[in-house]
Amino acid sequence: MIDVTLLGTSALLPLPDRALTAAALKCAGHTLLFDCGEGTQTAARKAGISLMTADIIALTHYHGDHTFGLPGLMQTMGSMGRIAPLVLTGPAGLHDAMAPILTLAEGLPFPVRLLSLPDEGLRMDTLFPGWPPMARLTAFPTCHRVPSQGYCFSLGRAGKFNPERARALGVPLALWSTLQSGQAVRLPNGAVQPEQVMGPSRPGLKCVFTGDTAPCASLTEAARGADLMICEATYGQDDQADTAAQYGHMTFSQAGEAAANAQVKRLWLAHFSQRIEDPLVFLPNAQAYFPGAQCGRDGLRITLTFPPDA
Ligand SMILES: [Zn+2]
Ligand SMILES: [Zn+2]
Repeated sequence: MIDVTLLGTSALLPLPDRALTAAALKCAGHTLLFDCGEGTQTAARKAGISLMTADIIALTHYHGDHTFGLPGLMQTMGSMGRIAPLVLTGPAGLHDAMAPILTLAEGLPFPVRLLSLPDEGLRMDTLFPGWPPMARLTAFPTCHRVPSQGYCFSLGRAGKFNPERARALGVPLALWSTLQSGQAVRLPNGAVQPEQVMGPSRPGLKCVFTGDTAPCASLTEAARGADLMICEATYGQDDQADTAAQYGHMTFSQAGEAAANAQVKRLWLAHFSQRIEDPLVFLPNAQAYFPGAQCGRDGLRITLTFPPDA
């Protein structure tokens, strides 16, 4: 199960009723934050989300509307007594971009670790004990004016456990959970591998956060079949496509088209220009390509659950 809350939907500057675009993802009691613009901590509070124990903040790029909330959030974490390490990840240039931010937030009572995600993604439980073993965060390149990346969080699901098979192999009940977590067990007559007692893996869950980007093939590929895609849609009108391309953004139509191409299950639009007073006015542009498109709004939340077994 994954809980996703959209904390903001604004581009460039926070508005009185629209915080800068960011999202919090919760899974098994742990938290991951996508982007952290000015006011993200206030938006989280408003949405009833605590970021104080977030394990990792995944930055899509280093423009201020995605990062200037970091010093404030980290100061608050420190004053609330956090001692657990915080990981910050982002595209190329992470150390240079974070240097002034870490200077501003000097004297924190917890370590901050800067981490570039490996190509195959980060298996969350290798850094943060307690995340499910099949939870993985992967970055993919996006197309903005500066180095940028989007994120795909996936929660895999093992096959069904076969108790009869485990009994037949002589695995004691106390070791069943070890096999269920994907690890082999050693018995006096040899090792038993998880594959011997687990059925084929079942469909898991996938959530994609694009950050700022023009339409690009890597996004379509990364988002393929996602349960939820939170996609930037900076410009409302189709005739703003040239401006969108110039600044490395998308129109509502392009976001809808990207979701349709990737055959995602749900699309939330976000990162609206301050010139868009009511995003719902332009929603039909996205729905022309992806009928289920929804305008994101601050505090919009969903719980994604595994599909029932076939
Ligand atoms: Zn932005
Ligand atoms: Zn940007």
